[in-house]
Amino acid sequence: MSFYKKLNFKEKVTKYTNDTLDQSGSVNLLFILSKMNWLNSQQLQKWQQGLYPNLEGFFQSTPQKRLEVYKIFQAETSGLKFIEAPWTFHSLLNENIKLKVLSEENEDVETLFCRHFLSKDISTRKTETLRKKLTQKPDLRVFLHEDKKALECNACHAIVEKENFFYSELKKTYCLKCAELDKLAFQESGDATLSRRAKKYSQKFAEVVEFNSKKKRFERRGILVDKKAIELAQVSCSQDATERATKRIKSSEKRVQDDFDFTQEFTKSVASLFPLCPEGEVSAIAEHATVRGSGRVGRRAAAKKLDDESIRLAVIAYIRHKHTFYDRLLLNRTPKKTCRKLVQPVIEKKLKSWETK
Ligand SMILES: [Zn+2]
Repeated sequence: MSFYKKLNFKEKVTKYTNDTLDQSGSVNLLFILSKMNWLNSQQLQKWQQGLYPNLEGFFQSTPQKRLEVYKIFQAETSGLKFIEAPWTFHSLLNENIKLKVLSEENEDVETLFCRHFLSKDISTRKTETLRKKLTQKPDLRVFLHEDKKALECNACHAIVEKENFFYSELKKTYCLKCAELDKLAFQESGDATLSRRAKKYSQKFAEVVEFNSKKKRFERRGILVDKKAIELAQVSCSQDATERATKRIKSSEKRVQDDFDFTQEFTKSVASLFPLCPEGEVSAIAEHATVRGSGRVGRRAAAKKLDDESIRLAVIAYIRHKHTFYDRLLLNRTPKKTCRKLVQPVIEKKLKSWETK
């Protein structure tokens, strides 16, 4: 079987659904549509803020294809337990709004979109955390105004100056006074413990985000909380600063040990799957694939289970870079797809020579 086999959209739905269940313990249909690139995250975020009457108009696929996807998703998740949590926009100034995905009535599919299916292996504790996350009121969001364009409050007509905060709901802008959030103080992101504690001590809370137009996404800048809560959090953080520093050192030591163990295990798996691969190359493959934070094959969730497919992919990646002219082709601006095709026979030959005869 060629390892470059392209999946068609139906196979993708099956693969994405099962991979997501495996990796994160639960899966929702909207997530699958985003993963298929049929839905962009900016539109999804705006829909979640109640800016669109439904989401269907933004799906980049035909209704027929979507119908197929719904059917496959339903079949793949049939028999699994689920948490039903309607998509809701939690309004500060109006009544809460239930968000609709479809443009036309179809109760069955609409309900399917609200279901978060659980993996058979998910722990009770993880299920409860997920249930809490899905059913709790999401954090209130306040925006940092970074644009040069002047913003006017829709209620009192005050101007929101640059670098000030505003609240937005259903395409309308409100100054913090009208949103009754003006008594809160800003705590910049950076100290996660301080922010978490300040949030805990505060009666009111809002997350401050700014739209990054280059990356086309909202990014967190800090939080708005009671002034008193920040002071309390600062005191509590200074009290256990030493204790937390010791814990940090311990956990980083543990991480180094875990990484070492994981690389060792990975090495063993490569050697057992490719017994004729020279020892030096086996270690090189394992070390390269398992670097923390590299996002390489070895660091992905599936690979942590050390399954044959992940090991094979790591070996392929290694051969591609070390035993073919792939990198040189890339440097010569050959398209990636062509490069991969050109070096495929060399990779297959090498793989065979390292496997048992
Ligand atoms: Zn106002």
